[in-house]
Amino acid sequence: MLLLDRLQAGDVLVADGAMGTMLMSGGLKSGDCPERINLDRPELLSDIARLYGTAGADVVQTNTFGGSPLKLAQYDLEDRTEEINAAAVRAVKNAVGPNVLVSGSCGPCGRLLEPYGDANPDDVEASFARQMSALVEAEVDVLCIETMMDLVEAQIAVRTAKKIAPSVPVMATMTFDSTQRGFFTIMGVSVADAAVGLADVGADIVGSNCGNGTADMVKIAAEFRQHTDLPLLIQPNAGLPKVERGLLVYPETPEFMASHVAAMIEAGVNIIGGCCGSTPDHIAAIRSAVDAAVS
Ligand SMILES: [Zn+2]
Repeated sequence: MLLLDRLQAGDVLVADGAMGTMLMSGGLKSGDCPERINLDRPELLSDIARLYGTAGADVVQTNTFGGSPLKLAQYDLEDRTEEINAAAVRAVKNAVGPNVLVSGSCGPCGRLLEPYGDANPDDVEASFARQMSALVEAEVDVLCIETMMDLVEAQIAVRTAKKIAPSVPVMATMTFDSTQRGFFTIMGVSVADAAVGLADVGADIVGSNCGNGTADMVKIAAEFRQHTDLPLLIQPNAGLPKVERGLLVYPETPEFMASHVAAMIEAGVNIIGGCCGSTPDHIAAIRSAVDAAVS
């Protein structure tokens, strides 16, 4: 069944976990372009998708977080935007069953919009349009605009998605920091502003990913729920990373993340997954907890 139909029917869905963490375990070096793997080693992407599918994810993402030409330009790969995005979709489709929905990941363009930076809105729109067209052409089931910190950029992305592919559902999630005044993105966007602003431009599903561990994400979800009736997607990190012997370590265990699933559902979350540091083991534990909570 299609994503929005399943949500409408009241299903709580499970999304996948981290991509970057898995790519690092697969040999990606820091400083390398993560999307270069789409061209060189697509079988690694299929392996990761297969692990998440086997763990019980209903929604599996493509390795295209940095797949917009503006972002790829940092690695001189912008000319290969179409190939890079198509290869990522193909790698997931080759690995998962027909009931798994393929989510086309679209991260920030990597540049600040005017007046804070030098990126102009038309260029940012054109960049998202080129990436999203490639993802839609390769037949993703949903576009996922994620890790957004600037509401204006997120809104450009959502509007662009709806312009180029009105029938493809759009999920849009922002990344908040916990501050003394509450949760805000680095650019000062509140949860209320995100909930209302993303819905205003046509997002079908809203929420948050990254930046927080599971317990704070339950609070963020509850705050979203006060400001929107749209389905909520929540993807916490496996806690906040610590550096141990030069390596980033994420402290939350699969059991810890899974122990918050009932509270997430209670807070009104409709799709639960993971972000940085979460692995197929975390997603398997979340899957069991979702099945237990809704049965
Ligand atoms: Zn993350």
